[in-house]
Amino acid sequence: MSGIRMTSAGGRAMIESGGRLIDVARRSGGKFSADPMALLAQWEAFTDWARLQAPDGSEPLLDAALLDVCVPRPRSIFGIGVNYREHGQQADMELPKTPMVFTKFPSCLAGPRADIPLTSNRVDWEAELVVVIARGGERIAAKDAMAHVAGYTIGQDISDRRQQFSDKPPQFCIAKSAKAYGPIGPCVVSLDGFANPLDLAISCDLNDERMQDSRTGMMIFNVPELIAFVSRWCELAPGDLIFSGTPGGTGAVRDPRRYLQPGEVITTRIEGIGEIRNTCIP
Ligand code: ZN
Repeated sequence: MSGIRMTSAGGRAMIESGGRLIDVARRSGGKFSADPMALLAQWEAFTDWARLQAPDGSEPLLDAALLDVCVPRPRSIFGIGVNYREHGQQADMELPKTPMVFTKFPSCLAGPRADIPLTSNRVDWEAELVVVIARGGERIAAKDAMAHVAGYTIGQDISDRRQQFSDKPPQFCIAKSAKAYGPIGPCVVSLDGFANPLDLAISCDLNDERMQDSRTGMMIFNVPELIAFVSRWCELAPGDLIFSGTPGGTGAVRDPRRYLQPGEVITTRIEGIGEIRNTCIP
């Protein structure tokens, strides 16, 4: 149960292995690109090669502060609203009968230690499993969907509730796409890194307080169903991301309501991937 952990540092694709960062282009003598997007487009060949690589001790030590966005330029980022029963019930929203899809614009992506500039006094956290597409396609059947997935990373779907609900009907895309409102990382973990890729522990701490604590097995629409639904409408491309929805325990549904304050630290964890840690700034 190891899985390949692909990330990016200094704008170059890296493999995390043995606590070190192996530079993909350098180690492969240029056979594989330094661009993570190119590796996602040839994921099977890349992971077959990466499985044979081990650090020789000369590589830089893995330090999360060195990492940048592991999937820097997806063509599309899909978000899924109300995809956990508990979150829907807490938000007093009717549970959807088909996946509720919105977009996060790619300019909102940020690294695993990025600071998040708050856009109002009602900005909320949403811990999410992020699906990373390797093989694109249209009208992908649910039974074939996992073969299109490179792996998973961790994401925060940071959301300005003031903007989201400032008018009727509410809007999602802009309110969830401000600068650094989509931190992801620390790496893409290939699917073979998970005993059960459809049921992983997911949590979010604000400072030292546990705010969200659930399992991805609680999704209303699971990952294959999300891929099948999205690809009926939109062609998927290598490197596309699906933010698969957040469990209960976000700030807007707490009593009393709780929003992010400058200086607060959001730690988001998913079993088998690790954690991202982001600090809120004014
Ligand atoms: Zn979300």
